[in-house]
Amino acid sequence: MGKKVKTAITPTREEDYSQWYQEVVKASDMSENSPVRGCMVIKPWGYAIWENIQRQMDAMFKETGVKNAYFPLFIPLSYLEKEAEHVEGFAKECAVVTHHKLEKGENGRLVPAGELAEPLIVRPTSETIIGESMSRWTSSYRDLPILLNQWANVVRWEMRTRMFLRTSEFLWQEGHTAHATKEEAMERTLQMLEIYAKFVEERLAMPVIKGRKSESERFPGADDTTCIEAMMQDKRALQAGTSHFLGQNFAKGSNIKFQNEEGQESFAWTTSWGTSTRMIGGMIMVHSDDDGLVVPPRIAPAHVVILPIIKKGADNSEVQESAQALQAALRQQTFHGLPVEVEIDSRDIGGARGWDWVKKGIPVRVELGPRDIENNSLFMARRDTGEKKGINREAFINTIADILDDIQETLFQRAQAFREANTFSIDEKDQFYDLYKKANGYNNGAFVLAHWCGSDQCEEKIKQDLSVTIRCIPFDSPDEAGSCIYCGEKSDRRVLFAKAY
Ligand SMILES: [Zn+2]
Repeated sequence: MGKKVKTAITPTREEDYSQWYQEVVKASDMSENSPVRGCMVIKPWGYAIWENIQRQMDAMFKETGVKNAYFPLFIPLSYLEKEAEHVEGFAKECAVVTHHKLEKGENGRLVPAGELAEPLIVRPTSETIIGESMSRWTSSYRDLPILLNQWANVVRWEMRTRMFLRTSEFLWQEGHTAHATKEEAMERTLQMLEIYAKFVEERLAMPVIKGRKSESERFPGADDTTCIEAMMQDKRALQAGTSHFLGQNFAKGSNIKFQNEEGQESFAWTTSWGTSTRMIGGMIMVHSDDDGLVVPPRIAPAHVVILPIIKKGADNSEVQESAQALQAALRQQTFHGLPVEVEIDSRDIGGARGWDWVKKGIPVRVELGPRDIENNSLFMARRDTGEKKGINREAFINTIADILDDIQETLFQRAQAFREANTFSIDEKDQFYDLYKKANGYNNGAFVLAHWCGSDQCEEKIKQDLSVTIRCIPFDSPDEAGSCIYCGEKSDRRVLFAKAY
């Protein structure tokens, strides 16, 4: 046994993964708990990550013809009742507004007054209210397709919450489209899933598995739910985005009708698709280490921090000016079409300064002292590999975009290698059960590709026994005859099992 190495985050991942996660979030200064249980305050470093996600994803949506709109926070209760399955799916977690004012009661306390004739629901998702608008906007096939997206907050009352992963209020985008044909709506469902997969892999550097949910895991009211699933470092799965084919269910509930080219009245076919601040939770769990957050360069709020070496009581103006000149020169460089973002941190707090930036996950740290200036060099450290080295100043400036690309690629490759090393095809029930029975804490087993007969009962039994669920039926799972891992009945293909967030 080697000597215990001190880490910036305690406990470590291995000691207590769930506590490690909380500590990483805290140490990175991304967010904090709010006075309202289950909600969070997103601080500038966390919000800048969200803004980068938002800006980049928004551009990808718009390239496909999607336009942004905004719909109200409140939904009349009667709207939710229009789609039975949907309301059942969300009823248990709806925040309900029943009063519209406050009055002074006894002892000067404020009490709700002015009861509403019809209670309002704080949106858990907006299918029903957007559907109502679509019904008024659609009369002919010429009005279709309608391709909308909204960036908003939603509320789903949660009892057990965890920052970014599960909060009662969270930020998200929800896309809603209406089409004249089933084929077009199905195509759009898959098109948006592809965008999610591309975004999460290329920008968040998280490899994902694309697939279809089993019936029991579908979005309430959907005919088909597709999703992307990623493996966290504790080997649990996180759903990073979903895209739903809603058939004509919501169109019938909301009365979205149109006259087709033959002059016949028909219901539209709709889709909805969403991703949320949960992606940030996934990013934290995929890349971060025992020293704190690691942010992929393509969504990092800043790429480089310059730490000038300040001498107490000395004239530091030369170092400060050199740092500013370096910042300006780096900002002239572009990384994927945008300026390289550079911070200078001149706080006189000793070694804590460097560690603050390690814990915030900034991709590159630069130290600059009088001797470096004399040698026309600087000292750089990579957050992903921990590599530290002296480098010529111009060489650093000229290759910063390459260095950032290399960090991005290293993070993706590492996450992919980890997932591959922890994904198994299993055909024996005992082996399957042994694997997950041993799973706990940091080691939640693996991703397992196993045969499934398609029955709800087998799925439910496995869930009860092991807390393991079918994450998806992967699109790339080939036709292959086998027998169900639980009951032994005939199966046509393998599905992806895992413990999930
Ligand atoms: Zn079975």
